[in-house]
Amino acid sequence: MKTINIDFLAAGCSTCCKHCYVNGGPGPLMPIGDVFACMEKLDEIGKYLEGEASITLDHEPFNHPQVGEIVHAAAQLTNITCYHHGMTTGLGLMRRKDREEAVGSYLDHGYRDFGITIHGSRAHHDEIVDRAGAYDTSVAAAGFLAQMGCKVQISLMLNRYFAQDADDISRLLDEVEPDDVWFANPIFTPHARMMRFEPYRADLKTLEAIRRYLPLWRQDEREITDTAYQNTIGAAAARLERMDLARLWAGEQDESYLSLHQDCRLYAGNSGAETRCLGDLRLLDPAETAQKINTMPGNRDYGAFYDAGGLPAREDVLKALAGLPSGLVYGDFESVLYRAFTDMGIPTKLLQKT
Ligand code: SF4
Repeated sequence: MKTINIDFLAAGCSTCCKHCYVNGGPGPLMPIGDVFACMEKLDEIGKYLEGEASITLDHEPFNHPQVGEIVHAAAQLTNITCYHHGMTTGLGLMRRKDREEAVGSYLDHGYRDFGITIHGSRAHHDEIVDRAGAYDTSVAAAGFLAQMGCKVQISLMLNRYFAQDADDISRLLDEVEPDDVWFANPIFTPHARMMRFEPYRADLKTLEAIRRYLPLWRQDEREITDTAYQNTIGAAAARLERMDLARLWAGEQDESYLSLHQDCRLYAGNSGAETRCLGDLRLLDPAETAQKINTMPGNRDYGAFYDAGGLPAREDVLKALAGLPSGLVYGDFESVLYRAFTDMGIPTKLLQKT
């Protein structure tokens, strides 16, 4: 069954992370009247959608002065689900005088899970998210959310600094005692900003240096190392030798991503990977719009970024990969392809937006 997710952006976020693949960063607010009008319209569209449809409140709803009303409106939708992931930098939350009320608005609707992402030591974290003081505020937010009765998780986002910051990370986990710890290796998508993260990308040496820490960080050492070894530049190149690229693009995808921006424009494509503007949501006809979404090809991977007609020859991709350090580690195989395509200057389908 097809799944449809609409990224609802009522506010920008508070940092400018080097690895961001959803074009986060500071941005305008959607006026609350528009939020209500868009929620209402999405619910009408939801009546006609085929498959499981959801919205996600991104990037940083706590930056919106009326976050409580937004969460309440999202929770009232009847034809479309509100998917709550709860990841936050904590910066928008901790500067609010009404932060108890803001978190309470989530708890009132059963949204209890929240998480912060950590990129290493204090200094390295702030460098990667490009915001001084971000680490301390995120950690303070985790403590505040726990006090409020939320379930708090910490996501450790792998980068080259982890080898030297492993003890700092262990200390942080001991101090915060999160309910869960997640581990993520950044993917790569063809957005201009992502090349900024490449000098920070971990390699197999980083992975070997942190291996003994993984069980202390509540991680499955075998699973993480196996996945990393499968997704190095070298391993992906070896896999590509036996692969027909065009077949990857021909495979059917059953996930469709859309994004709704603060100016109420609805786009096909996830935030940061928009390929087509469907128009101002407030003015769109619900049945017609649902029809467009229902017939839109899935855009989770491959075809979301590159047209099948413009694919390079496999030998040329292998040549581009041969110019990169073979031990660099990516979140998945697709990321390695996209990195090679970026280096090769292969044009993307993405809309150029400011
Ligand atoms: S990764 Fe998240 S917090 Fe960082 S800039 Fe992107 S949207 Fe914002």
